Amino acid sequence: MSGYDDYISNGKRHILVADDEFINRELLENILGDEYDVLKAEDGEMAYEMIKQNRNTISLILLDLMMPKLSGLELLTCLKQDSELKGIPVIVLTSDQQSEVESLKKGAADFIPKPYPQPDVIKARISKSIELAEDRQIISATEKDALTGLYTSEYFFRYGEQLDKFYPTCDMDALCIDVDHFHVLNERFGIAKGDEILRSIAQRLNSIFDDSRAILCRKAADTFLVYCLHRDDYEKVAEQASEVSAELSAAIKLRIGVYANCDKKLAMHSRFDRAKLAADKIRNNYSVFVSYFKESLIEKELFAEKLVAEFPKALSEKQFQVYFQPKFDVRGGKPVLASAEALVRWLHPTLGMISPGAFIPLFEEDGLIAKLDEYVWRGTAEKIADWKSRLGISVPVSVNLSRAEMYDPKLVELVEQIALENGITTKDLYLEITESAYVRDADQIVERVTDLRNHGFFIEMDDFGSGYSSLNMIAELPIDALKLDMKFIRTAFEKQNDTRMISIVIDIADYLGVPVIAEGVETEEQYLELKKLGCAIIQGYYFSKPVPAAEFEKFLLEKKANEG
Ligand code: C2E
Ligand code: CA
Ligand code: CA
Repeated sequence: MSGYDDYISNGKRHILVADDEFINRELLENILGDEYDVLKAEDGEMAYEMIKQNRNTISLILLDLMMPKLSGLELLTCLKQDSELKGIPVIVLTSDQQSEVESLKKGAADFIPKPYPQPDVIKARISKSIELAEDRQIISATEKDALTGLYTSEYFFRYGEQLDKFYPTCDMDALCIDVDHFHVLNERFGIAKGDEILRSIAQRLNSIFDDSRAILCRKAADTFLVYCLHRDDYEKVAEQASEVSAELSAAIKLRIGVYANCDKKLAMHSRFDRAKLAADKIRNNYSVFVSYFKESLIEKELFAEKLVAEFPKALSEKQFQVYFQPKFDVRGGKPVLASAEALVRWLHPTLGMISPGAFIPLFEEDGLIAKLDEYVWRGTAEKIADWKSRLGISVPVSVNLSRAEMYDPKLVELVEQIALENGITTKDLYLEITESAYVRDADQIVERVTDLRNHGFFIEMDDFGSGYSSLNMIAELPIDALKLDMKFIRTAFEKQNDTRMISIVIDIADYLGVPVIAEGVETEEQYLELKKLGCAIIQGYYFSKPVPAAEFEKFLLEKKANEG
């Protein structure tokens, strides 16, 4: 379409009035005749013909919903499906208040109720719809994203503000839509295919958000923003938008963060920050695709930022402390201390003790975890060496590894060096690697774990049963022990001692020839039952909570005394 000068002849824009009642057509022509050139149609079909003939000159259509031959809504649907006609703003004329939202969703720019309001009101609605539509037409190429044809974020925010100004009472939603693990798709299928996926997603979103007030932009590589009329079918939207490519449909998952019914006093970009916050909350959740913003998320976010910001100081001031929780071998008559697990705590000067569940996931995201873990591994190795020399006894202690660390090519060298520097061996330090780490890039992880084992480290697969590894894969895993996910213990003893799942895991471990460790064991009943089922090692509050190093010494001394 050429520039919007085409719309204007004799200094007047053209408006088509489609209404089957003569009196209405006359009334509108009367009101608008001074400012606009008014064309008139008596039924839907006639209107459609006139629109097609004058597609380059009509600035706006005033459309009666109840008309013979082709109803207003039918005509509206035809227009919105025609790429050449869909850009012409349509204002719906209706006596039925209910049709208002429906026509907006069908693509109407606005509506004018019957009986007609004051001429001023009518004129104002018409002029702002024309202004908005022309704004959209004259947007230059630099305001569109070259790949997808969606708006750039700068234009998007500006236009959103415009929409607010013109329609201050509409309930609007701000959405942040992320393609889950897009970089993986890119790596797997190549950049060209990645681009194609993004384009298809953009197209799909465009057709889903086809109400007249909806605008879309591509924010970053794989993030889309949508500003649209409030709706509540986002689960369905996530599903539909993920099905962009039949061959890849299983691989593509969209995450939608929704800031519903935005507070319009907030700046446009802040509303989308909120939507993003909601989207980020489900980043590592593989079963939830829609997340709504809540005020409490802001507090959590601020708290998270505070912890991340304070990390370097906390590390240098040694605010982190390693606690130890004993693991007992229960295969014999009496439980025997077999090893321990090192678990970090943050003894914060003002917040008190913070448990790792609150900061480990943050540090994993921000890449700080490697520094913290190295500190924990060193602290643990020092303790083992100290106990050995001072108490004349020690047990192996396991430390936790995060998934990201498994990709560090220097990992093996580093842990080995930490052991040797402290005068202990690689056999004294056990490594716990969570099952979920094995699931993606299994080959690479297996290779790294094999390397660690070749250097003498003992590998415990942590949280087993939570990571969905396939039975095929498990058979080939290089591991030395399986740690049952705590969930199994919880559910088994919640539901009248249904221990069948535990038995299955123990069978798997038997098949692999490795012992099963049950953690989170809290009661004597659980302990006895697990022992009966064939669990080799037990860890949990039943024996002891994780305790500071000094307190852990009592378990070592007890063992030493028993061994006499
Ligand atoms: P995890 O490796 O599965 O550790 C077991 C968690 O269960 C620990 O929580 C432990 O205190 C808790 N626990 C032990 N016995 C019982 C029991 O009988 N009942 C209940 N309800 N809980 C029990 P904690 O210390 O809060 O650690 C949470 C998670 O943080 C750990 O889960 C681990 O994934 C991570 N983590 C802890 N320390 C480190 C660390 O130094 N490095 C890394 N990368 N992750 C760590
Ligand atoms: Ca662990
Ligand atoms: Ca665990």
